[in-house]
Amino acid sequence: MNKFENYCTKFVQSIGSKEGAVSPAVVSSASFSYGSPETAEGIFNGSVKKPLYSRMGNPTTAKLESIIAEMDGGIGAVATSSGMGATTLAVMSLVSQGDEIISIGGLFGGTYSLFDETLSRFGIKTHFFDVDEFENIENTINDNTKIIFLESVGNPNMRLPDIEKIANIAKEKNIALIVDNTITPLSVSPLALGADITVYSTTKIISGNSSALGGCVVFRAINENDDKFKTKRYAFLAKFIKGAGKMALIPNAKKRALRDFGMSANAHASYQTMLGLETLALRLPRIVKNVEIIALELSKNGLHVNHPCLESHPHHTRYKEDFQYGCGTLLTIDMQTKERAYDFLRKTKLATITANIGDSRTLALHMASTIYSDFDEDTRKFLGITDGLIRISIGLENPQEIIEDFLKAAK
Ligand SMILES: *Cc1c(COP(=O)(O)O)cnc(C)c1O
Repeated sequence: MNKFENYCTKFVQSIGSKEGAVSPAVVSSASFSYGSPETAEGIFNGSVKKPLYSRMGNPTTAKLESIIAEMDGGIGAVATSSGMGATTLAVMSLVSQGDEIISIGGLFGGTYSLFDETLSRFGIKTHFFDVDEFENIENTINDNTKIIFLESVGNPNMRLPDIEKIANIAKEKNIALIVDNTITPLSVSPLALGADITVYSTTKIISGNSSALGGCVVFRAINENDDKFKTKRYAFLAKFIKGAGKMALIPNAKKRALRDFGMSANAHASYQTMLGLETLALRLPRIVKNVEIIALELSKNGLHVNHPCLESHPHHTRYKEDFQYGCGTLLTIDMQTKERAYDFLRKTKLATITANIGDSRTLALHMASTIYSDFDEDTRKFLGITDGLIRISIGLENPQEIIEDFLKAAK
């Protein structure tokens, strides 16, 4: 069975309850009464599995976490207040002062500035590489390297990584691989390809309708025998492995990040996210098909479209072989100059001008004047941000109507 078809059943069946309220219950309480001092003690030492306090976990959020964990084949997940919260949680649970991160691929603006500007203030250094710089990546790994970080699709440069090959480097060198899979949930399964942790902004295609900000981090199980997380590099994990066994990455992340930084999800957002998730497997294949139809047609009509479904794209073969379920909702159009890009955005009647992506509606944004406006020229060049670049996130509309609208707007 096609992966999307399979998940159509799974999502609706696991989100709706067979007994009592069908729609998930929203438990908005910030705190939970323990009833007795013994139960309180048990909850705090982990022997009693009941809610402690909503910063550390919430029943509505827990339902979302278990569904997303299953979607990715993880042992568990932690939902967060935003996608940046998810990246911060995953990263901060593994690094301390003096550590190094290797970041591969065209990077989401917030993640780039987290690594380049914010973490560097705390003595954590990040090395940035393009997706195919395998030799440089291997040569940069040293005793302080704690994380290889990768985006499943370069946003907005549309370059595709060889995730399996990079996962093999991470495996061989015993370094944690974190994949930001925001753009390709269901389409790409990072944990199955050898990643250790997946992060999502659920704000995007998982919710799909701009109704809730959120994020989620999925963790793999610690192996019973050899495991990269049992090596000296991750010595700080030993006590969690002793206490929680194969679940260890979750209490570590909760203690190291959720408790102290407080990027916790709230129940209402988790509920809204589940409503979106319910139809993800139905929406995504439609959008992926739309993206291909639109990219081909606009390109045929002389627009400078960047998408790996086009034969001219350097990762076209990789797209055909490794991304059989597509690479999400994005494509870019280079209008060559800022003036022409603005003209296009003024004329399009269907695209909504916003910084979001992965919506049911088609969205568009000029990159250099917005998300990347405070980045210097070299960084923009590295991230593929040209003066006329417009990022488009295709929605559920009839693709012919989008094509007509865009061709008129580009005149
Ligand atoms: C949007 C996005 C994020 C950040 O998510 P927020 O929910 O906006 O905090 C991270 N990574 C990628 C690839 C994104 O598109």
